[in-house]
Amino acid sequence: MIWYKYRPDALYALEDPKIRETIRRYVSILEEETLPEFILAKCFEVEFNPKENIEDLIDIHDSYLQEFMKFVEEYDNEKFQLRKLKYSFLDLKITIADKLTESCEFCEWRCKVNRKAGEKGFCRVRYKPKISSMFIHLGEESWITPSFTVFFAGCNFKCIYCQNWDISQNPENGKYIEEEKLALEIENAYYEGARNVNFVGGEPTPNLHHILKVLKYVNSPIPVVWNSNAYESEIGQKLLAGIVDIYLYDFKYGNNDCALRYSKIPRYFETVTMNFKFAINYGEVSFRVLVLPNHIECCVKPILKWIKENLEDRVIVQLLSQYRPKYKACEYPEVCRTLTRKEYLEVVRYAEKIGLVFETQ
Ligand code: SF4
Repeated sequence: MIWYKYRPDALYALEDPKIRETIRRYVSILEEETLPEFILAKCFEVEFNPKENIEDLIDIHDSYLQEFMKFVEEYDNEKFQLRKLKYSFLDLKITIADKLTESCEFCEWRCKVNRKAGEKGFCRVRYKPKISSMFIHLGEESWITPSFTVFFAGCNFKCIYCQNWDISQNPENGKYIEEEKLALEIENAYYEGARNVNFVGGEPTPNLHHILKVLKYVNSPIPVVWNSNAYESEIGQKLLAGIVDIYLYDFKYGNNDCALRYSKIPRYFETVTMNFKFAINYGEVSFRVLVLPNHIECCVKPILKWIKENLEDRVIVQLLSQYRPKYKACEYPEVCRTLTRKEYLEVVRYAEKIGLVFETQ
């Protein structure tokens, strides 16, 4: 695939010193100096009995997590010897995730529905999730592109301006693809030049059990990008830790009132900021901040301020100007228009004023 004809910036993106410094581990995977976390999770032996109850399995998982991250940090390609394991850290995560679908709490809604038995929670995603499309995406951030993007149908948010609402608000808009088959598609994309596999939607979180099972069958060293709204529960976050190389997070609102009004989401700000602080310890983080019209003071400035004060130079920030009033946006007059040039410039000037390093798009 001659992707660099279309995105020459992507070809040179990894030479940018700021990018190399901020997402050092991702770059070293692409340069074959180390391996993606999920591959290492398959090589890390753990002991557990799959019949144990979920609470005990989570305790076992927690007791291994830091030791595993040390293994990731100290991993040395030349010294490593592959051996057959009874159970790996990934097996433990798969066992927990699968049991959790019987009382689902992958995200902060914590619906506790039995998805295996056909019950549906807020997201309405079935136990066997649907994929609406997958392809090598050339329109992502330069350092991610080309990205093998897997679009899951369904979402745990109900954003009134969703640009992908036909996928996100209809969890049946796609088809179920078995784990081994999807793994094969990922392998093929890797050999066609994809820099990563990018799980998105809708939202990937309701599909966590399926994604972990898919990764068991992937043997190519392709980094994992988690392209999400960051509304995972605590256990959802723990299961991702040691699997995700890049957390590509939307940071949508600077307060809970706007989150409730436009995405129907309670406890937004405390949930996502807790997750951002957790994620940075287990992978590399990049933020997408979509600037909504009339939301500079209440949302964008508090978001940028929070990033500056809490994660400073450890993340990449993209300020997105492409908002369009789609779906139900015009039921809310204040967001029923595109962004003005003046608004976007105000955001850029504010980011510069507080000394935040960011990219525009
Ligand atoms: S993923 Fe979230 S919204 Fe969906 S059933 Fe599970 S807890 Fe509920």
